[in-house]
Amino acid sequence: MTTLSEKKIALVWFKTNLRLRDNECLTRALAENDEVVPFYCLDDLLLQTTSYGFKKAGAFRLKFLKESLQCLDQGLRTAGSGLVFIAGAPEKEIPELAITYGAQTLYAEKEVAPEELSLQEKVITGLSRLNCSVKTFECRNLFHSSDLPFPTAQLPEIFTEFKRKTEDVVTVRPVFPKPVFIRSPSIKSLDLSIIEAEVEADPRAVLVFKGGSDAAHERLQNYFYQTKALSNYKHTRNGLVGESYSSKFSAWLAAGCISAREIYEEVKKYEIIFGGNESTYWLIYELLWRDYFGFCMEKNNLRYFRRSSLHSSTAVLDLWVEARTGNTFIDANMTELKLTGFMSNRGRQNVASYLCNDLKVDWRYGAAYFEQQLIDYDVCSNWGNWAYLAGIGNDPRSNRYFNTAKQAAAYDPEGTFQQLWLG
Ligand SMILES: Cc1cc2nc3c(=O)[nH]c(=O)nc-3n(C[C@H](O)[C@H](O)[C@H](O)COP(=O)(O)OP(=O)(O)OC[C@H]3O[C@@H](n4cnc5c(N)ncnc54)[C@H](O)[C@@H]3O)c2cc1C
Repeated sequence: MTTLSEKKIALVWFKTNLRLRDNECLTRALAENDEVVPFYCLDDLLLQTTSYGFKKAGAFRLKFLKESLQCLDQGLRTAGSGLVFIAGAPEKEIPELAITYGAQTLYAEKEVAPEELSLQEKVITGLSRLNCSVKTFECRNLFHSSDLPFPTAQLPEIFTEFKRKTEDVVTVRPVFPKPVFIRSPSIKSLDLSIIEAEVEADPRAVLVFKGGSDAAHERLQNYFYQTKALSNYKHTRNGLVGESYSSKFSAWLAAGCISAREIYEEVKKYEIIFGGNESTYWLIYELLWRDYFGFCMEKNNLRYFRRSSLHSSTAVLDLWVEARTGNTFIDANMTELKLTGFMSNRGRQNVASYLCNDLKVDWRYGAAYFEQQLIDYDVCSNWGNWAYLAGIGNDPRSNRYFNTAKQAAAYDPEGTFQQLWLG
């Protein structure tokens, strides 16, 4: 019989893996311990303004986060557990939580970006003083880094080379099943009132984004099976208006409400039922881009955040942020971002190029505004794409210039998108 003092208790730290299915941290914690304490820590820093003058997380993402946590808590309660919610500085709050529950181990998602890594180190140091060990697991990507045919430090400098060396060689690991029963101490009901995130819904938004894995799977069912929009993805993915031109999975992927492997598995099922084509392949191809930026962050780290030689004039930056540049294609995209927290991939490429190449503003200010504003903000995808477009990343073509007039003519030939946002 296990006595209380012998009980193995683990903390499971939910960060950007807000799901029960395909969650290695949770699965391993359950296998190796008697009880687990699932928790989320709202980092004070998330609500603060950074040196770039923007919030780390704006209202769109906070609202999405709140909904995601509510859904996670419901799922945990159905399995006999619940979500502990704490707020403050994680390096202080998490060791206190370990003391409260007498935990010996913490299970957490492995970080790769500088700020997140530094926080992870601080938490590890704090817990080691309590003899609480830390185990980390990769939760973000399609491919596991140890399955790559090269160490991350030797990641190819260009995406096509990465794709060539991996896509037919690396096997995507199977999805971890959702645990049926989660053994936990009694956990009080969730109170998220501290997260104030009211946003006004704009009827022109591409989609009503609701956080949580239930909504993520509903979107997948809709995009794959109800509309079969997936079968046309390659031809529509550069669109600007409406919910079906692309999957809109990014916000759920960024919060981890759904994993890249779950989507991959579902594409494979879909291909068996309806047949695979270049579009079904292309969704996986885009997930490979996402992986690539994840591995690039691990390899390049601080290089992504380096200052550029461009200026940081707030007056010019404000014109871009406030959608008052006078370039209607740019202003329409920036209005959409401001009012909905989302922008298409075509739009993001254009506004980023415009800020760096036409307005000559330091790209990091643009990336920081995106960080505040995007509902789907992901540290690797955001800073990686910005660095890539600014020529700071590892692509040999240093200047990725987008001629916005040509782009508008090609992708918004009737001006429908510009009309929608600028009236
Ligand atoms: C300057 C800039 C900043 C960006 N910031 C982010 C960000 O913070 N978070 C984010 O998720 N994406 C970011 N992207 C990538 C991309 O624009 C979005 O993932 C995409 O528009 C989201 O819409 P979707 O889910 O409908 O994409 P789909 O076209 O349906 O693609 C499917 C999935 O593939 C992944 N993907 C597609 N394109 C890219 C790409 N270029 N880089 C990385 N992953 C990709 C996404 O996870 C996406 O959900 C950025 C792109 C640029 C140019």
